[in-house]
Amino acid sequence: MTDKYAIWDIDETLISASIKDISTPFLTDPNVFYIQPIIYPSPVEIWIRKHFHECINSLKMKGYKFIIWSAGEETYVKAIISVLFKNVEITHLFTREHTTKYPYTDNGRTEYEYVKILKNIEQHIPGFKRENCRLIDDNPCHIKEGQEHLIITCPKFSRKDTECSYLRNLPDIIDAHFSLKSSTNLPVDFKPSVNNQAL
Ligand SMILES: [Mg+2]
Repeated sequence: MTDKYAIWDIDETLISASIKDISTPFLTDPNVFYIQPIIYPSPVEIWIRKHFHECINSLKMKGYKFIIWSAGEETYVKAIISVLFKNVEITHLFTREHTTKYPYTDNGRTEYEYVKILKNIEQHIPGFKRENCRLIDDNPCHIKEGQEHLIITCPKFSRKDTECSYLRNLPDIIDAHFSLKSSTNLPVDFKPSVNNQAL
């Protein structure tokens, strides 16, 4: 059987991160952890989206393999996944250096958007077939091609969304997405709408 991959974005998809306010105590919530990558002056507070472990375990049972692809810097991403995916096998880790950098102007300043293009990573994954992967990302603007393989995380996760049920439903959404795309009975212009059914 060909491997199926869930390719995870990190920020606002699985976690919400912010520089810790030094005037407040460290939290002891099981859904919160702290990292301090060398590139940051203060600890970073990380909130895990609810049902994360349930989602990962369900997808593992279904036989999915996991890839991380964040547009964050490698040091930051590694610090997060060393905790978040501590007991979960990841086949590949891709970060900002695997994105394509697009300049844009914001109030006269040149900024950059880091875009995920599948051809940037497929060469690194032996036997990879893009039809067997789903990118799970909160920002459709970060995917410039291959949108048919994209599942938009909806809503974006912030630490205020403590009751968000999205990840509980996501394994079924991913299964449905694969089923829809592989069906031969769909009209040519059919667009799966399962992304918005998990709210
Ligand atoms: Mg994101």
